[in-house]
Amino acid sequence: MNHSVSRLTSVRCANALTASGWQKNCVVQFSDQGRIESVREDETSDVDLYLEGIVIAGIPNLHSHAHQKAITGLTEHRVPGQDDFWGWRELMYRANSRLNPEQLQIIANYLYIDMLLKGYTSVAEFHYLHHQPNGTPYSNQSEMSERLFDAASEAGIAITLLPTLYCRGGFENEPIKDAQNRFYHDPDGYLRLLSECHSLCAEDPDRSIGIAAHSLRAVSPQDLNATITHAKSILKDAPIHIHVAEQIKEVNDCVAVNSARPVSWLFDQCDVTHQWCLIHATHVDREEQALIARSGVTVGLCPATEANLGDGIFPASELIANNGFFGIGSDSQVSTSPAHELQLLEYGQRLSRQKRAVLVTDATKSNGRSLIDAAVIGGNRAQGEFVCGLQPGSRGDLVELNSDHVEFSNRTLDQVLDTWIFSGPFNPVKTVIVGAKQVVQNGVHPNREAATTAYRRMIQSLALTET
Ligand SMILES: [Zn+2]
Repeated sequence: MNHSVSRLTSVRCANALTASGWQKNCVVQFSDQGRIESVREDETSDVDLYLEGIVIAGIPNLHSHAHQKAITGLTEHRVPGQDDFWGWRELMYRANSRLNPEQLQIIANYLYIDMLLKGYTSVAEFHYLHHQPNGTPYSNQSEMSERLFDAASEAGIAITLLPTLYCRGGFENEPIKDAQNRFYHDPDGYLRLLSECHSLCAEDPDRSIGIAAHSLRAVSPQDLNATITHAKSILKDAPIHIHVAEQIKEVNDCVAVNSARPVSWLFDQCDVTHQWCLIHATHVDREEQALIARSGVTVGLCPATEANLGDGIFPASELIANNGFFGIGSDSQVSTSPAHELQLLEYGQRLSRQKRAVLVTDATKSNGRSLIDAAVIGGNRAQGEFVCGLQPGSRGDLVELNSDHVEFSNRTLDQVLDTWIFSGPFNPVKTVIVGAKQVVQNGVHPNREAATTAYRRMIQSLALTET
């Protein structure tokens, strides 16, 4: 779709949450590459589009596995002996084994349109489904990556593809299981894939690429460091993502083998900088929290998935007290709504501390506004964007909420954001602009119907309920 939609040059916002706070009647000017050139108070200039609602910066989704959309709702029963994350993983692996490239693209296209309609404007796709089910590479080894890029372009969402390195079956260099054959690369093979994916981004400002290691279970620090060193010759400032400390079993296994907890061990073994994004980091102690905050890494929180899988609750209030960064992701796709993720994030903190308004970052902001501001900053950092929000230099990603929505009656601007997050579910997203392209208009995405039809047919043909 983005090939046929031209970039806007300017929009006027009746009310916009800019990087320096709320502004009325401001004009956002875009470059021909879809970045913001200026944000200024201006009541007279001609513009391409007038947004009469409440405009915020687009919210980045910093962690997605598109293929897992296909199994949402299929794993909500008890399985004797494996009623936990590891049992869920087996079911997910079985579903994975059936997907071909065309099916992956259909899932991702449907999913990415859904994300746009709910207010996400970019997605960091943590992609490890590289090969054919038996582990044989496709004749085009970047086939699956290309499908994800194409799905994103078709939907009109900006994508940071994170081809993921997966080398081993556990902390002690165990061999991978058959079900993991699709994921495997040695570091050299991975670097070739990364280079091909890099060329697929050329001249498209809505595509970028980063480096990912699946986990400390799946990649040794030696392989990880060597890969990053080589990858940096083509991807100097690229983000680096890794799953870490999601499950207590993972923490215990790491301690047993390395005599250190996962986050602590990662910092000990690798040069973890502000370019890194630690996905989940659920189980951290005080020392690990301090390492996270000092290094400037972003913590990638996926509250709906973490709740669904019974991971645990990340101590986010300590991160905020240390001025650390976090963003949100849809991960297993049990939720595709940023408002819902932020609600769950805050509620997890409230429930575990018996307090209210825990993640307010600044006394001048409401809880909802604090959460959105933090998610915009952290989500962008995780995609290599260190200037973000509505200000010059940022990506031209905007979301307009419908100020006429009955739920927003008699609300201040901050209270509109609070109502969206804490009074849902309802969807007030009216307009979505990605890289200065309008992809959602009046709450409608032009490709949604076709994408939905294709998705329904494909899910029926997959017959996953028979796994
Ligand atoms: Zn994940």
